Amino acid sequence: ETSAKVIDGKAVAKQSKYEIKIEVLNMKDAIGVVPGLDVILVGDKKDSTEEYLLNHIVDYNENPKVHGILIQLPLPRHMDEARILNAVTIDKDVDGLHPLNIGLLAKRDRDPFFVSCTPKGSIELLHIYDITIKGKRAVIIGRSNIVGLPVSLLLQREDAIITILHSRTENPEEIVRQEDIIVSAAGKANMVRGSWIKSGDVIIDVGINPIDVRPRKSSRLPVGWDVCYDEACKVASAITLVPGGVGPMTISMLLSNTLSSAKRVLKFE
Ligand code: NDP
Repeated sequence: ETSAKVIDGKAVAKQSKYEIKIEVLNMKDAIGVVPGLDVILVGDKKDSTEEYLLNHIVDYNENPKVHGILIQLPLPRHMDEARILNAVTIDKDVDGLHPLNIGLLAKRDRDPFFVSCTPKGSIELLHIYDITIKGKRAVIIGRSNIVGLPVSLLLQREDAIITILHSRTENPEEIVRQEDIIVSAAGKANMVRGSWIKSGDVIIDVGINPIDVRPRKSSRLPVGWDVCYDEACKVASAITLVPGGVGPMTISMLLSNTLSSAKRVLKFE
């Protein structure tokens, strides 16, 4: 039986996109401008050079119609990711990956222009479902720049007591068992078992992991989540839906960040 409340990211994201749409239409009516987002997809194109990409970023940085710039990661191996992320102006860095935005997030008395979309979406789910963060013990499994690190900074800013696990952590289950909020972003299918969880825990599962089985013709590549849902849902008090947990939130947070960027530049309330 399922005891956990299911955290439905798909429904939350749908509502949030609807609200963003209304705001965008209001903006268009009032001042004739809509928020502009540029997504740079390099993929594995071998013919794209770093200079070409950097020139594009400079153009977007200066273009007043562009309020947000997102560079799809990972970049091809021949490109210097740090150099490219650094080139995005911090007030259009809607994925919050510029080191200055991460630095501002880490500082106690400062606020970043933007917070990374997946981490922001994960915490937004806790807010929407009225889950108390302050004073709670939260464990973040994973310390990547894109997910684990910003999630831990966000939870710390909201007065959680945070523990960060990584691939060198021994006996992760013993640590996880002591926690109230578990955010898993390790990228390891079914790593977190029901026995790691205590009654009442809240679970945000960020992991979306390809599973190494040959898909049937025309079927989509199968994926697995970090947390073993069937076991965890019997113990936890709340757990993200699979599929439809954090994934859909990422896109709505990207739109929300772009809208706030446009509002800030255009001084539109
Ligand atoms: P990375 O591979 O960059 O980072 C994984 C992190 O998990 C690392 O810090 C690693 O430790 C840690 N880790 C790996 N194995 C273990 C283990 N056995 N125990 C504890 N920690 C471990 O992945 P990302 O952060 O980019 O992504 C994490 C997951 O989230 C992936 O499944 C990805 O697909 C998913 N994702 C989902 C998104 C969405 O919902 N839209 C967006 C982005 C990511 P170490 O630092 O020591 O290597």
